[in-house]
Amino acid sequence: MSWNERQRRMLAAMGLRLFAPAPTASAAPAAAGDAQAAKAEAERPAEAPAARVAAPVSAQAPASAPAVAPPRAPVTPARPPAPVAAPARATPAVAAAPVAAADPALVERAAHIATLAWGPLQDAVATCTACGLCESRRQTVFGVGHAKADWMVVGEAPGEQEDLQGEPFVGPAGQLLDQMLRAVGQSRLAASGEGREDDQAGDPARRVYIANTLKCRPPRNRNPEPDEMARCEPFLKRQLELVQPKLILLMGRFAVKQLLKSDDAIGKLRGRVHRYEGIPVIVTYHPAYLLRNMPDKAKAWEDLCLARATADGN
Ligand code: URA
Repeated sequence: MSWNERQRRMLAAMGLRLFAPAPTASAAPAAAGDAQAAKAEAERPAEAPAARVAAPVSAQAPASAPAVAPPRAPVTPARPPAPVAAPARATPAVAAAPVAAADPALVERAAHIATLAWGPLQDAVATCTACGLCESRRQTVFGVGHAKADWMVVGEAPGEQEDLQGEPFVGPAGQLLDQMLRAVGQSRLAASGEGREDDQAGDPARRVYIANTLKCRPPRNRNPEPDEMARCEPFLKRQLELVQPKLILLMGRFAVKQLLKSDDAIGKLRGRVHRYEGIPVIVTYHPAYLLRNMPDKAKAWEDLCLARATADGN
């Protein structure tokens, strides 16, 4: 495949030098990205065998809080339904979160969360004590970006920096994420950036809203546990309902597990368009994984191009 100058610049912005015949000034960010890889070792997530202190997921039956699809609050679309690209590779809809009604209190909680506007939703996250992560977190990490962004990016869980700063993806993986998004013309909001209703500066078509599967940092960046994911899920679902993105970019296997209810590997799911409640979903590698696995950056680039084309209706 031959690359034109614009594509080369985009690849360089993502830290990809694979296709550049000669080093150029614009390839400089690659070095910065590489240098961060060592630091990122401590960061989650591993797509490949976990380097983290990982509770064996398979051994953890969702205990008291199985995934619950809360009764959906009526949401009035602020914009017409997203134009859904129908690439040849589109897959059938993936079932929404299975309703598990083991604990009526959790069902009621989820139903309540599904009615919240941005402000009360943020308050509910900030004061959440639904799982044990509330004991070790410094603060919750709600989300950041344009409250009506066309793109919504879903990651895994806050790491150390996010736990300190209260914003998703601010560590090395976040810097790579910002580069990747910039390469396809998207960015998070730099301003107040807490997903409040008034946080709508800029063109929503060029903005993203970023949220995590979990709002609290798991101790020592261990993998999220199923019970934690289930209890946190109503928050993410409500964020999705409020943002109403035209495209969802799932980064890493826990985001996939949460929204697509799939345990398949990223390598198996990427490269085609999935659906979450009718919204096109693109699956790609988590930036922290990419920092350790440079060759897969090329695949992530393909995924971003697919995301771009899908969002643009091509
Ligand atoms: N990794 C994530 O998945 N989310 C963050 O916010 C930071 C690192």
